[in-house]
Amino acid sequence: MSDITIALPDDVKEIIQTIESHGYEAFAVGGCIRDSILGRNPDDWDITTSARPEQVKSFFKRTIDTGIQHGTVTVMLHHTGYEVTTYRIDGEYKDGRHPESVEFSGKLVDDLQRRDFTINAMAYNEKQGFVDEFDGLSDMKQGIIRCVGDPKQRFLEDALRMMRAIRFSAQLGFAIEQETYDAMVALAGNIAQVSMERVQVELVKTLLSDNPSYVKRFAESGLFAVNLPCIDNILTGKYARNALTMLKYAPKQSVLRYAALFNMAEPQETKNALKSLKLDNYTIDTVTKLVTYEKDVIAENEPAVREALHKYGIDMLQLMFTHEHARICTQEEILGLSMSAKKLHLERIEQMSKEILQRGDCFTIKELDITGNDLKEYGLQGAQIGKMLNELLHIVIENPKLNEKETLIAMIEHVDID
Ligand code: ATP
Ligand code: MG
Repeated sequence: MSDITIALPDDVKEIIQTIESHGYEAFAVGGCIRDSILGRNPDDWDITTSARPEQVKSFFKRTIDTGIQHGTVTVMLHHTGYEVTTYRIDGEYKDGRHPESVEFSGKLVDDLQRRDFTINAMAYNEKQGFVDEFDGLSDMKQGIIRCVGDPKQRFLEDALRMMRAIRFSAQLGFAIEQETYDAMVALAGNIAQVSMERVQVELVKTLLSDNPSYVKRFAESGLFAVNLPCIDNILTGKYARNALTMLKYAPKQSVLRYAALFNMAEPQETKNALKSLKLDNYTIDTVTKLVTYEKDVIAENEPAVREALHKYGIDMLQLMFTHEHARICTQEEILGLSMSAKKLHLERIEQMSKEILQRGDCFTIKELDITGNDLKEYGLQGAQIGKMLNELLHIVIENPKLNEKETLIAMIEHVDID
């Protein structure tokens, strides 16, 4: 037993003690132990136990059958769910994705052995203390991602683990142990067996990590060569440095990190790559727009900024400002020179847009002080109404003071909509 102590949350202590009171073992395990030792706040606390799922269910008032065939029951305590999983030995993996079967076990070490990396295979409870059968602590101290057992076999079982290795290395700033890395290079092609949804989760976690430039390891190891040739090209092509540098300046928001990755790519190419990643429509649309609008220039005057608010919308324009800021910082770093004029221009139009929004200037048809119905009363019909509203909007965007019903009505007969 080592002298490591981990401050378990009260709920986790309660779950472990309840299981122990029925004569079984239970430990907090995996990511929560890794993160606690690293001084990071664990996202969630997983518990592993010698008790079978049916027994776990009988020990607690509220449970959910999350993945009962795999031994997982969610225990609800104070409105929070905790996954409690029976010690497991994973059966043979035939497709490199899912074990054919799982076998329950009474031994903690069996369960630790099925886990992917040594740093993810540590367990802890207050009774038995810290359990570290595969030297995860030592790897953690050295900053190394290493498979539990033979890396080739582990990657053959589940090819996604190769991406997880890179993702964890980016999140933690760790190196990948040589034998583990060599196995990745040898088996990289097997990633084709993994669904794009799972691939995408690891990719975005890497992009959103403290070391987003580690994304290049997906290309270096060959993991993207077959599956994602477009991203592979970006990460190995002449603009690779640009993309990797920009990732550092883009805030941790998935659309902005994706846009940084694709910022030198063609919009259509970007869209296709995002589609092949099976991303949601919002992300595909927003990132493609960011890459498309990069070339647009917004002049440094209020009508132009109101026009931009009209054309792109408030949220999109804000993202465009942030994206542009990261682009300028990237160019500055790569070219080794200051771009103060570009930065100043960006700051000024950003400031203008803030003031416009604070004042509540009109830049949409909805905000016009006149409606389609008003226009009807003045004899306009059908398509004329929309055209007139548009014309009036552009007049108001030029001069917001004109956004008063009387004034707008007076203008109707002078505006040419044919
Ligand atoms: P995070 O939640 O921050 O992504 P985590 O380590 O908690 O990190 P999860 O995917 O939530 O990762 O998995 C919980 C634990 O289950 C891991 O720590 C690991 O022990 C084990 N695990 C998860 N996925 C795999 C896998 N593909 N192969 C082997 N073990 C895995
Ligand atoms: Mg987790």
